[in-house]
Amino acid sequence: MDILTGKLKEKNLLNRGCVFCGEKDMVILGYKDEYPVILLNPPTKYYEAYAMACSNCGFVHTFMGEIIEGNGNG
Ligand SMILES: [Zn+2]
Repeated sequence: MDILTGKLKEKNLLNRGCVFCGEKDMVILGYKDEYPVILLNPPTKYYEAYAMACSNCGFVHTFMGEIIEGNGNG
């Protein structure tokens, strides 16, 4: 189980599905050691993130990496 799925399951949020259409099937974004980032301006700075896309409508749900990894208040 990937880190994002594990964290959402731990918080009982895994089965909520897409916040836009309600679809339950989601696609984790990133492959192996690749991961999404949230770019800041200037674009030399960024936050590491986790993201999943809805397989029905494509809505992308983005989560702060440091909170998902347990280093924040999450
Ligand atoms: Zn959706």
